[in-house]
Amino acid sequence: MSEKKYVVAIDQGTTSSRCMVFDKNGLPVVSEQMEHAQIYPKPGWVEHDAMEIWARVQDVVRGALQKGNVCTDCVAAIGITNQRETTVVWEKATGKPIYNAIVWQCMRTQDFCVEWQKTCGWCQDDKGRGKVKDHTGLLISPYFSGTKIKWILDNVPGSRERAANGELLFGNIDTWLIWNLTGGPNGGVHVTDVSNASRTLLMNIKTLQWDEEMTKFLDVPMAMLPQIRPSSALYGHTLPEGPFGASVPVSGNLGDQQAALFGQACYNQGDTKNTYGTGCFMLMNIGENPAPSDNGLLTTAAYSLEEGKCVYALEGSIAITGAAVQWLRDNLKLVDESPDSEYLAGKVDDSGGVYFVPAFSGLYAPYWDMSARGAILGLTRYVRKEHIIRATLESICYQTRDVVDAMEKDSKVPLAELKVDGGAVKNNLLMQLQSDILGKKVIRPVVNETTALGAAYAAGLAVGFWENVDDLRANWAEDTNFTPLSSDEKREAGYNGWKKAVDKSKGWVE
Ligand code: ADP
Repeated sequence: MSEKKYVVAIDQGTTSSRCMVFDKNGLPVVSEQMEHAQIYPKPGWVEHDAMEIWARVQDVVRGALQKGNVCTDCVAAIGITNQRETTVVWEKATGKPIYNAIVWQCMRTQDFCVEWQKTCGWCQDDKGRGKVKDHTGLLISPYFSGTKIKWILDNVPGSRERAANGELLFGNIDTWLIWNLTGGPNGGVHVTDVSNASRTLLMNIKTLQWDEEMTKFLDVPMAMLPQIRPSSALYGHTLPEGPFGASVPVSGNLGDQQAALFGQACYNQGDTKNTYGTGCFMLMNIGENPAPSDNGLLTTAAYSLEEGKCVYALEGSIAITGAAVQWLRDNLKLVDESPDSEYLAGKVDDSGGVYFVPAFSGLYAPYWDMSARGAILGLTRYVRKEHIIRATLESICYQTRDVVDAMEKDSKVPLAELKVDGGAVKNNLLMQLQSDILGKKVIRPVVNETTALGAAYAAGLAVGFWENVDDLRANWAEDTNFTPLSSDEKREAGYNGWKKAVDKSKGWVE
């Protein structure tokens, strides 16, 4: 038998699917990536074809194994990480989805959520506290899976009865992929992990089981829900007929943001990472107590390495960060490529008094104001495009500062330093601005693919490829750190301007 040298991660994201192979040092060996179609049936609605996603995942697995000359005998385990909250309902007997996957960004259940918020007994106070937060750690929002499942069952004739009879299965993309990898209609395992289940509005954040009151209220039959397992556990084996061409253990599962936390070796209480992609997602490890937030953050399951046990995180989700740079590129044509923002913003010393609040789809954490809209403020004849580009980079950093402040208020502990990852952290100016605006050290690791790495780690731990989290900690290495260069006075004056700009953008649409 060949030596087990690798762990494979399948990273199924919003726009593309990736397969990455990692060695024992946590270093990437080979990677393959393919995009899938974005379906926009109406304004504010977003769907994916779950069958296309499964096909692309098979393609990237085959592609990566072939490209890297990786024999499946050398693969110790497979880990999955996924776009979270995206909802699939399919027929158990055929494996055919009964409706397109409803994507996390989809706003179709907004009206239901507004009405729900008014419902006596469920409504939230001005801190977002209420029954929903108490049961799930979350807020009433179309973002999470629960109302999306309800929408499918309300709109596909006969589906609720079929679901109650066990003929239909629900899953986020993790569940959908594991079911297909382990046999599909021929005995595929129907499981999820705590980190994904905690994004459905249906899991009780304390018991880590499906919550009876939430499932009843949203009218989701228990029979269609997957079993909730730890993030690192042997779920099943791949079929030899599948893309791996052999029976390989599937043993890791984490939602993408939690996977990045795990890949960044944030295993101690207080450890925090921020991922800079389309949006920003900051997670702080808060240990084994799922404390609710009073400052606009979510409480979420971070990871579980053992049945019945869980490490939790506070999460600050920001909708538009890298996407604002894309907007400069695609809509205003101020940059040819996103990385050009670094050179152009570096041509000026500051933003010339300009603030850009990129509230294109409202403001998420910590404001949760869906009626806010984007605004560029402080314009004078002096302002050039370079100032606007710099203000865009600063908007990423200021939004992050908002979330850090909320985390410090909730946890009552000052954040020592921030580990960063994601596509935009290659921008050195952005990272320096982030350190200046936070007044904290910002640390970029050598391996920036922390999402896939986290899934690989969870899978490898379950099969003994890595012994324990100390092995994983030892793999983590710093690439560069950024320390604050600006004075406290300048920092606070800049931040006060940002707060004023945010106030102007709030409550814009009725
Ligand atoms: P996602 O996983 O959310 O698709 P990525 O991690 O691939 O995102 O990061 C891509 C995002 O980061 C895009 O929105 C892009 O505009 C932004 N981005 C990428 N490189 C840079 C850069 N050098 N400077 C600023 N923004 C960047």
